[in-house]
Amino acid sequence: MSTQEAQELLSLHHVVMEFKVSRRATVRVLDDVSFSVKEGEILCLVGESGCGKTTSGKIAAGLLQPTSGEVRFRGQNVWTADKATFRQYRRGVQIIHQDPYASLNPTQRVEDILSAPLLRHKIARNRREAHQQVLDLLRTVDLTPPEDFIKKYPHQLSGGQRQRVSIARALTLRPQFLVADEAVSMLDVSIRVSLLQLLERLRDQMGVAYLFITHDLAVAKYFAWEGRIAVMYLGRIVEIGPTPQIINNPQHPYTRALLSALPEADPKATRSKQRVHLRSLDVPSLLNVPRGCSFHPRCPLFEEGLCDGKVPELHAASNGVQVACHLNENEKVAA
Ligand code: SF4
Repeated sequence: MSTQEAQELLSLHHVVMEFKVSRRATVRVLDDVSFSVKEGEILCLVGESGCGKTTSGKIAAGLLQPTSGEVRFRGQNVWTADKATFRQYRRGVQIIHQDPYASLNPTQRVEDILSAPLLRHKIARNRREAHQQVLDLLRTVDLTPPEDFIKKYPHQLSGGQRQRVSIARALTLRPQFLVADEAVSMLDVSIRVSLLQLLERLRDQMGVAYLFITHDLAVAKYFAWEGRIAVMYLGRIVEIGPTPQIINNPQHPYTRALLSALPEADPKATRSKQRVHLRSLDVPSLLNVPRGCSFHPRCPLFEEGLCDGKVPELHAASNGVQVACHLNENEKVAA
């Protein structure tokens, strides 16, 4: 099934997320975030730390309820749906965390970690059936022969093996959607590539869709070449579109700056690459977001009176890309 024919699976609509930081003050971590992911599609959320990527992932996975806005799974608002629909959603959407050291219970063997959800959700009827399913899951994530891993504790595994167990655990409930939150960023480069290949294979074989969260545009480019990238800055999406368009023809000054800092495979190309020089390297605090376009204190194209006035909304630019920048507003094309 092509992504164009695929149905919308999960979407966020005008999501706002605020946290209380003191008795009187709140911090707005997400401001009017909307995106949707179709069945089998990959959407990468990219941006610096603190831009709201992880919060978006937790909201997509149902671990946080947004302050306002909607989360829809197969068209249903999950926070107003009945209990059965909410349960179906929580089973259908699973999360792979960044840190395989912290996300697995150190006192449990691999078999217990993986068989607990199988038994709790009655996917396996008894321990014997669960044992067989755990062996299959370990094969699926390339921990073979599975008998070598099933009795081990997390501390007896390498970082890459531990992350494979985390992926196997996310697969126990046969999800249709995986939120991978910096799932490969703590691993060595060679292991990172083999894990990305595993995630890609799961998509091909099981039709799983991904919300893939990373601070690294190079990883996003590699993993989501056939998907889309959404670039986030201070709690808002500033550019979203098909990966080849974002990589080859970025529209937003922030995306251009991120891409210009990306090393190329050929060192000569890296040396000759034109760097985008930001006006400031300091990322403003979420407690004091700049007026108008929040990128304006750093933006090399800043125009006084325009950029520090109103917040630029996402609008259609070209080739399926949407961008939130006042300078692109005149180039607006029909969506
Ligand atoms: Fe830069 Fe202005 Fe565009 Fe913001 S709106 S990205 S400050 S040019």
